[in-house]
Amino acid sequence: MANTAFGDITLARVIESEEKLLKWSEVFPDATAEIIRANHDWLVPKHYDPATGGLAITIQSYLIKTRRHTILVDACGGNDKTRARPHFHQQHHPWLETLRANGAAREQIDFVLCTHLHVDHVGWNTMMKDGRWVPTFPNARYLFARAELAHWEAEAKRTGLPRTGDYVADSVLPIVEANRHVLVDMDHAIEDDVVLYPLAGHTPGQVGLHVRGGGREAIICGDMMHHALQCRYPDWSTNFCTDPAHARRTRRAFLERYADTPTLVYPAHFPSPSGGRIERAGADSYRFRFLEH
Ligand SMILES: [Zn+2]
Repeated sequence: MANTAFGDITLARVIESEEKLLKWSEVFPDATAEIIRANHDWLVPKHYDPATGGLAITIQSYLIKTRRHTILVDACGGNDKTRARPHFHQQHHPWLETLRANGAAREQIDFVLCTHLHVDHVGWNTMMKDGRWVPTFPNARYLFARAELAHWEAEAKRTGLPRTGDYVADSVLPIVEANRHVLVDMDHAIEDDVVLYPLAGHTPGQVGLHVRGGGREAIICGDMMHHALQCRYPDWSTNFCTDPAHARRTRRAFLERYADTPTLVYPAHFPSPSGGRIERAGADSYRFRFLEH
């Protein structure tokens, strides 16, 4: 898989699954069949399958290597987890082999950064060993934004998270119990040129990762947007956003700031090659220009 370089820093994608995973009607409360149809010219076939209503949603991690550190951003759905959604239930993905093929054994990961603590971003935090969930990356520190962990710990206690299975219990709390986590502020610097980027809204403590090197820069932006439709329609938050209005403000500010700049943007779920640039496409609209490779 192609690496992208930022000076001495490389970025690679570690894909767990890549398919038309979610129907537009599940994701976007503001979408209508008419609006989707009006965008068929660019949506089909890469971003949308009209036969099923499915939107392309890739589940992947980003692997960042610097001179000093190997950093995993997001941890997909994971294996052997009991989940309500079949796509994440009792899976046996060869994801660790994919990670190794991208140049990192699990022992080599120094930091794990979950952009936020949703089920599709925390799965590989833990693996099943001798009947227990243990940290998958034995030498890693897991960076949790303070506000994010506090929110989901409280939510897990309150609801048991019936929608997705109690993923906090099997993929987040074992990290805390093993004392492998570090609570960080939302603008925490891992290194001078590898710095967390606050993106609250989709969840209360969502963060991205800003990487700079060799005169270039990239921002891994988690679920600040799930689909390129949110460039076309910047007001569209999702049914998964804890605060849709805040998510909308955050997304609008981000799109406005980076439109027509050279900054590369890497959303968590955009289909391959996932990264690209934001372009202004009208008074109140943007377009995502995917990288060529
Ligand atoms: Zn997600």
